[in-house]
Amino acid sequence: MFDKILVANRGEIALRVIRAAREMGIRTVAVHSTADADAMHVRMADESVCIGPPPGSESYLSIPSIIAACEVTGAQAIHPGYGFLSENANFVQIVEDHDLTFIGPTAEHIRVMGDKITAKDTMKALGVPCVPGSEGGVPDLAAAKALGDEMGYPVIVKATAGGGGRGMKVAQTAADMESAFLTARSEAKAAFGNDEVYIEKYLTTPRHIEIQVFGDGKGRAVHLGERDCSLQRRHQKVFEEAPGPCITEEERARIGKICADAVAKIDYAGAGTIEFLYEKGEFYFIEMNTRLQVEHPVTEAIFGVDLVQEQIRVAEGLPMSFKQEDLKINGHAIEVRINAEKLPTFSPRPGRITQFHAPGGLGVRMDSALYDGYSIPPYYDSLIGKLIVHGQDRATALARLNRALGELIVDGVDTTVPLFHALLQEADIHSGDYNIHWLENWLKTNLQNG
Ligand code: ADP
Repeated sequence: MFDKILVANRGEIALRVIRAAREMGIRTVAVHSTADADAMHVRMADESVCIGPPPGSESYLSIPSIIAACEVTGAQAIHPGYGFLSENANFVQIVEDHDLTFIGPTAEHIRVMGDKITAKDTMKALGVPCVPGSEGGVPDLAAAKALGDEMGYPVIVKATAGGGGRGMKVAQTAADMESAFLTARSEAKAAFGNDEVYIEKYLTTPRHIEIQVFGDGKGRAVHLGERDCSLQRRHQKVFEEAPGPCITEEERARIGKICADAVAKIDYAGAGTIEFLYEKGEFYFIEMNTRLQVEHPVTEAIFGVDLVQEQIRVAEGLPMSFKQEDLKINGHAIEVRINAEKLPTFSPRPGRITQFHAPGGLGVRMDSALYDGYSIPPYYDSLIGKLIVHGQDRATALARLNRALGELIVDGVDTTVPLFHALLQEADIHSGDYNIHWLENWLKTNLQNG
C-alpha cells in the first residue's frame, strides 16, 4: 500500500487526485510552479514542492524536478492527472527506472496509443471498428491526392502525433487537398515535432461517443459505458454527458464488450478511453486516450464509482473493486466545462477572482480549484472548473444544470457560463439532437456579436 503519492499536475485535477488519496488514507505531495505558490492544490496537499518557474515546460513538464520532488518527500508513486506528462511514455520509463510507480498504464501502451497510426492498426487487429482511411502514413501530396480520389471526398488529414484538436484539416473536394495536406503537415511539425499525417474518410454528421474502459494489467478489463461529447468547439469538448442520448442498451453492450475485450487482450492497466465517431448506428474508432479524461465525473456519477481510487488500487497491484456485472447505470449525468474565456471569441481571460460561490444541493458536483481572491495565472489551460450534475433521467439532469448554473458565482473574470445558459434555451439540447458540428454552426448564428 502506498503511504504517499505525488500529484504531477495542477488545478482541479490535482485536487481531484488529492481528495481520492485522502479518503484512502494516503498522504499527498503537490508540486507547483512559482506562479502557483498560492494555488488550492498546494494548500490542500499534505506537502508541497516548488519545481520551477511559471512556464509549464520548466515546471509541470520538468521530469528531473518531479523525480527529485519524489526523492525529497519519499513519495512512492506519481499520479499524472490529464495533460502535462500523463501520456508521455518517456516519463513513465524514467519513473519506473527510479523505482517509483506511475499511476497509469505502461510506457509501452502509452507509446502504442500515442501514435495514432499504430493505435489504429492495433485496434483493428483487436477487432475494434475503425474509420476507413489510409493504410498508415501518407508520404506526399501525390499519394494524398490519389487516395482522396479513390476514397471519395470529403476526407480529413490528421497528424499521427496529434492531440488537442491540432494538426487536422478537412478537404471537402479534390481542390482542397493541397492546402489541407500541406497545412496539416506543417501544423503537425510545429506542434508535435513530427510531420507524419494520415487520411480518413471525413464523416459529415457523426456524434463523438467514447467508451470508458478499465483494466487490471493482468488480462481482466471492464467497460463503464459511453460518454457523448459531441458538443465541441474547434474539436475541443465543452459539454459531456452519460449515457449517450442516442445509444441503446444493446449498442452499449456490444461496443463496450469489444472495447473491454480489446484492452483485456493487451493487459492494459488502469483507466483508458476509446474514442469513436458514431454515425447511422456504426462506431468508428478514432483514438485511445491512456489516462483519466477531463469528463470522467459523468461516468463516476452514473456508475457510483471513484475512478481515481480505482487507478490507485490497480497501480498498487490490487484487483479492481468491480466486475462487469456489478456496473449498472443509474440515471443521467452532464458536465459543462467552465473556462476563463471571453465570448464570443473564447479568448483566454486570466485574472483575479473577486468572488466565487460553488453551487450545491442534490446531484451537484463542482470540481474547481477557485477560491475568493485567487488569481488565475496566464500560463496554463483556461479550464477553471467543471460543473457536473446527476439526476434520475436526462430531463432532470438538464433542469438541475440550469438550477446549478444559476447558483454559480464567478466574479472578476469572463467565463463560458453564459454559453451554457444560452444552450439550455435550445430545443436540440433538450431533445439530444446534435452532432459534432452542431455547436460550431450554432455559434456562427448566435454568438456573433457576443
Ligand atoms: P485529437 O487527438 O486532436 O483530439 P481526434 O482524433 O480525437 O483528435 O479527433 C478530435 C475530433 O475531431 C473528433 O471528436 C471529431 O470532432 C473530429 N474528427 C476526427 N476525425 C474525424 C473524421 N474522420 N471525420 C469527422 N470528424 C473527425
